[in-house]
Amino acid sequence: MAFKISGFGNYDAEKKVAPAIQEKEEQGTVARKSVVQVCFPGKGMALSYYNDLFDLKVGDLVYVDGKLEGQLGRVVEITYNFKIKVSEYKKVIAVCNTEVHGQFFMAGSHFVTFDPTALPAEQITMWFKAPAKEEDEYESGTDDSTFRLDDLKTMNINPTIAERGHDYYMENRVRYISLNGNRGYAIVEGSEGYVVEFEYANGEISKLVCDCFCSYNCKHEFAAMLQLRETLELIEKHYAEEFARTGYFAAVNKGTLFAFAIDGKETGSFTL
Ligand SMILES: [Zn+2]
Repeated sequence: MAFKISGFGNYDAEKKVAPAIQEKEEQGTVARKSVVQVCFPGKGMALSYYNDLFDLKVGDLVYVDGKLEGQLGRVVEITYNFKIKVSEYKKVIAVCNTEVHGQFFMAGSHFVTFDPTALPAEQITMWFKAPAKEEDEYESGTDDSTFRLDDLKTMNINPTIAERGHDYYMENRVRYISLNGNRGYAIVEGSEGYVVEFEYANGEISKLVCDCFCSYNCKHEFAAMLQLRETLELIEKHYAEEFARTGYFAAVNKGTLFAFAIDGKETGSFTL
């Protein structure tokens, strides 16, 4: 069972592969200065921010600087007619691209696509994590430990942590998982969004890391492994040909796709 999703949102149709972060110079449309009200879930209130980087629309999901840095907010009101003292305002620093185009197939709790442009990792990551700041530096390293996906007992993980990872998997907290050739990428939502990366070849997992920065195998990694195993089984069973064609898949949790790519959009379509 497959369906196509097309053109949700306020974006131009030709921007099929839009950048995850709309930088001022990359943006197809010119920035329009505004003062916007941004609502943060859990805060129960909207706060005002100055915007001079984007042409914002009501419903856009944004990140801001200041106290609520790193928290995803939704634009609920826009004012173009204003005069403010800029130093007194915090700013909108990034907008999420929630436009999704492509064919998706049913795969249990997730939708899966074999089209690398439908929902790339860099696009969906911003739905869960604020973009890294210029001054932030990241380094990662991996040892040569490996284990088999079909025998997770060989994964070196504390049983209590594995159990919590299993809970995460059951709760569908693996919002996204993709495999591009042998490079794997997953987003697991715990207290916040975490990125799990790994390599997968001939049934074996290697170079497994998570950006929760713990030194041992964590619950996010275990949850991602369980989701990978389930998704690969479903693909093998129902969509082996489609997968073989591109050597790529991305699976997104059904609720996640609806919440970000469909809810709140006034135009767009999908075909079942
Ligand atoms: Zn982790």
